[in-house]
Amino acid sequence: MSVSRIHRHRTVGVNVGGVTVGGNAPIVVQSMTNTDTADIVATTDQVADLARAGSEVVRVTVNTEEAARAVPAIREALDSRGINVPLVGDFHYNGHRLLTEYPECAEALAKYRINPGNVGSGAKRDSQFAAMIETAIANDKAVRIGVNWGSLDKDLVARMMDENARAPEPLDADQIMSEIMVTSALQSAARAEAIGLARDHIILSCKMSRVQDLIAVYRALAARCDYALHLGLTEAGMGSKGIVASTAALAVLLQEGIGDTIRISLTPEPGGDRTQEVRVAQEILQSMGLRAFMPMVIACPGCGRTTSSYFQQLAQDIQSYLREQMPVWRKTYPGVEEMDVAVMGCVVNGPGESKHANIGISLPGTGEQPAAPVYVDGRKTVTLRGDNIAAEFQAIVDDYVRTHYGGA
Ligand code: SF4
Repeated sequence: MSVSRIHRHRTVGVNVGGVTVGGNAPIVVQSMTNTDTADIVATTDQVADLARAGSEVVRVTVNTEEAARAVPAIREALDSRGINVPLVGDFHYNGHRLLTEYPECAEALAKYRINPGNVGSGAKRDSQFAAMIETAIANDKAVRIGVNWGSLDKDLVARMMDENARAPEPLDADQIMSEIMVTSALQSAARAEAIGLARDHIILSCKMSRVQDLIAVYRALAARCDYALHLGLTEAGMGSKGIVASTAALAVLLQEGIGDTIRISLTPEPGGDRTQEVRVAQEILQSMGLRAFMPMVIACPGCGRTTSSYFQQLAQDIQSYLREQMPVWRKTYPGVEEMDVAVMGCVVNGPGESKHANIGISLPGTGEQPAAPVYVDGRKTVTLRGDNIAAEFQAIVDDYVRTHYGGA
């Protein structure tokens, strides 16, 4: 896959606690905790898990005074563990007060997420928005102006709906919703700049929960500004539905060069693993050839030619093994994240696919000799037999990593 075919929409780069979002920087993976931020231990642990999984920025909700008080302690606890992932504070309704009354919280965060629909109404709206922007300026922090269609600025909606109804050629319901979202983001960004926040401190998002709506709104946003864009389908849902919907929306936009940072808003299964959203974000970017995070395991789906689940087990074991090694390999063997490992179920596509990978194994299908040829850089190097194929193949992978990526 040639990434050069994708022309990234040109945006202004923003420094988020040492991570660049936008400009020419690689697309950043971010995530959000679901712990009570006031619970310092639980939130620190979850941020650490998300960072270890590869989240490059982590957002926490800052909804109460207790949460605002906890943020500096969470930052300190992470630093003491050597985890320097930037923290973003998610503010709604009372952000102006929390950021001004808890300056250590304002300092500990790398970015403030402000929802223009939730900063107050009427006369208070402008002053409360200004208070947050002024805090960002004073602390040299980035701001994401995060519009969400579930919490749009009611005054703006009423005014634009009214104007649309009186227009000679009114927009349809979806078009006017998209227009309101984009207008809310751009007007808020213009207001932040007028207050004094530099353009290279502003990131925009306009999140919607329907795939086609999201695509339309981001296309419109990208066409009308060069702010760095945070991309995500809001309320994507659970399990495969959330993953598929997010992938469908983001893949279209990323292919058009739109999006500088992504977050996958999955609802975890009860007791589920929050880091799944990080893995999905990485897999979207890696599948599209936009970034590489860990070696890819290419496995066939299996069919009637495979009578056992042995190759599924081997594919899963290799996938888990590679994932477990990555925290160490990432530092010791730079470039290993670009490696492809093929685990194939029979002779039909096994040798061919294996030859295309860095390392591949073609397991025997029904009626084939009980032998598994291994291919390294396109050449057959050995044929494994017997009960120890999994361990022997893993040793071959280890050896390949050591000899090919050991330059660090
Ligand atoms: S490689 Fe073989 S086992 Fe795998 S799907 Fe193709 S035909 Fe079936």
